[in-house]
Amino acid sequence: MISVEEALNKVLDAVSPLGLEKVSILDALGRVLGEDVFAGRAIPPNDNSAMDGYAIRTEDSRGASPENPVRLDVIEEIPAGAIPAKAIGQGEAARIMTGAPLPLGADTVVRLEDTRKDGARVLVFAATPKGRNIRRAGEDVRQGEKVIPRGEIIRPAEVGLLASLGRSFVLVHQRPLVAIVATGSELAEIDEAPAEGKIVNSNSYALAALVRECGAVPLQIGIARDSRKDLIAKFQAALRADLIISTGGVSVGDYDLVKDIMKEAGNRMQFWQVAMKPGRPLAFGALGGVPAVGLPGNPASSMICFEQFVRPAILKMLGHANLFRRTVQARIEKGIEKQRGIRQFIRVLIRRDGDGYAVVMGDNDSGMLISMARANGLVILPEAATAVGPGELVTVQLIDDSLERGPVPEF
Ligand code: AMP
Ligand code: MG
Repeated sequence: MISVEEALNKVLDAVSPLGLEKVSILDALGRVLGEDVFAGRAIPPNDNSAMDGYAIRTEDSRGASPENPVRLDVIEEIPAGAIPAKAIGQGEAARIMTGAPLPLGADTVVRLEDTRKDGARVLVFAATPKGRNIRRAGEDVRQGEKVIPRGEIIRPAEVGLLASLGRSFVLVHQRPLVAIVATGSELAEIDEAPAEGKIVNSNSYALAALVRECGAVPLQIGIARDSRKDLIAKFQAALRADLIISTGGVSVGDYDLVKDIMKEAGNRMQFWQVAMKPGRPLAFGALGGVPAVGLPGNPASSMICFEQFVRPAILKMLGHANLFRRTVQARIEKGIEKQRGIRQFIRVLIRRDGDGYAVVMGDNDSGMLISMARANGLVILPEAATAVGPGELVTVQLIDDSLERGPVPEF
């Protein structure tokens, strides 16, 4: 049996970032940039007005006040998108709109609020310092500047930035194809009425959702019966994936054949059994050269193991630098005892409580899917601990971004 830490390192060592592909900037959302993006142009491309007002020469407004306005000739109107036709001379002004290019000769923009139209002229009621209300060419982005370094995650702001630079496609890391094999002779298909003694294969769906949530592409292989022949056939079909995950068949039962198949010729076993709860029977190896994680069959265990090992592996394949969920410190409301030497994960609902967070515990039987559905975090109790008392601070891994989901439900 190995520790969670060692197991995670072995899984992460077995995968590397995938190659690059060119996608539209909208399809790049949430993905990891595989190239340095340089600005092919400056933003804004030219000096322009930050205000609606009049473009003037600074010295022409010197001494202007509400009591003592200056009067300037309006020689042109420059709407956004237009190019100024005339240069501003002494005693002249151009009506200018926000975003319109600054005309030659002008070195400041007086706000519309500080002026009044007077026929073909304008009255200026305020002295405007040089450079006021002007956005300089390249002040947002300089031409040639590295604007987004490779490795950065593309968020909506990056999509906008790329668009403003005229980039409609970028290189990002490919999405891994993740094969999902459910194992168990007791499993029924989702749309079949489960016969006596059968349960619906829910794990394939929960895992496919997790795969998709972290940005990879699930490949549903379906259900393998607990026979060598069927398992080998299903694993064979999974070999075109970048990563294989299976559920069930890794315990110590007579029909738990997944780990045996991982050990066989051509396949490789790296570890079986991890010092954790739930998830102890986790197996990891390779099938025909493809890294393969044998998750436990219990629905909650399989999801918790996915969170700890598969998600970081997928994020690494996607090129992410940060592979781990956010953690927060929270006060646990109920005490709990645990076995020394294992890392324990407890499904909890975490909510804001004054300055900090509080943790509410529900039923944590590893077969219980409902407590997974109600949870938004996992308390992680370290190997060395044997108990935590009520009110003690614990580390909680956030498994979704919602810290609160309305009223706390009754467990
Ligand atoms: P196993 O490790 O194969 O003995 O499975 C442990 C428990 O998880 C058993 O109660 C199984 O019925 C259940 N289980 C295994 N695979 C699935 C699945 N794909 N969907 C739902 N439950 C499952
Ligand atoms: Mg089984």
